[in-house]
Amino acid sequence: MKGLEKCSVIKSFSHIYIEEGVMDHPVTREIIKKFPGAVKIRIKHYKDVFCRPRQNFIVQEMSRKLILAEKNGEMIYPGPEVCQDFGNKNFYYTAPILNCIYSCEYCYLRGMYPSANIVIFVNIEDYFRKVESLLERQPVYLCLSYDSDLLAMERIVPLTSRWIAYAREKRNLKVEIRTKSANYSAIRRLPPADNIILAWTLSPSEVIEKYERKTPSLEHRLKCIKNAVDDGWKVRLCFDPVLYFENWQRAYENLITRTFSIVQPEKIYDAGIGVFRISRDYLKRMRKITPASDIIFYPYEERNGIYSYPERKKGEIIEYVSGLVKKYLPSEKIFI
Ligand code: SF4
Repeated sequence: MKGLEKCSVIKSFSHIYIEEGVMDHPVTREIIKKFPGAVKIRIKHYKDVFCRPRQNFIVQEMSRKLILAEKNGEMIYPGPEVCQDFGNKNFYYTAPILNCIYSCEYCYLRGMYPSANIVIFVNIEDYFRKVESLLERQPVYLCLSYDSDLLAMERIVPLTSRWIAYAREKRNLKVEIRTKSANYSAIRRLPPADNIILAWTLSPSEVIEKYERKTPSLEHRLKCIKNAVDDGWKVRLCFDPVLYFENWQRAYENLITRTFSIVQPEKIYDAGIGVFRISRDYLKRMRKITPASDIIFYPYEERNGIYSYPERKKGEIIEYVSGLVKKYLPSEKIFI
């Protein structure tokens, strides 16, 4: 497959665990065809591997394995408190993939899952059925790419394309696909859809280099954004999480100036700004597995089970960054 050999992550998946119930699923077959050299291991249930006790997330991150499984039960969840709804009612999210090929030091997945291996739920048709039954009752705003980076996985499994094809037909469904990837080329052949928002997370280069391991550079992300808006997609910019570090003001000023020097502000659908925040339990686990991280060991304050910067610092950061974004976008397009 063109481009696949360039994708270094493909080398990671030396082993693929496959639930016996999905051995013959077309999506399973499509994925394993791309890894002819991988050792295939038949398993009963993905949790037998994914939820094994005493796994080391940090060690596993260096060489992730793939787990192909079927999702049952609840598939669509109410939008979490810590996430922005961007003014939408009936905010939901779903997780067709668990875990991410990138290794951001601040990522809550490190505190959420017992394993760094990547689970792909191949039964996409069941997800569509669940969305269908929700849509019978109400319009839905659905975020697809929270517990993974779906677009980054597109050359391994083209779930983003399939969700786009499904969602574009649904008048009362609005979808957000969030990414840090530079993989826009994998979906560029698709015509843009009015009810689908491609959302890129942007961070200063200093943050990308220090804390967002394996993610594409700022310039690569901006190039994708420019191509996407020029092609007519609705694009959301996510300055989230904004981090506090030495010279953070200068770094965010450079980021926002650079962003709008590449992308015409009037072509941007909207933008979100949020400081780093994380639930108490996830942070506790992350502190156990990331012993030397200034970002994880910052003396955050707890408010209602969520750790974040002290209220005054948070206010200062939000005011500063939103002030920078307001030079380019009207207030009604900025969500905090
Ligand atoms: S890109 Fe997002 S999901 Fe992936 S590791 Fe980074 S923060 Fe986590």
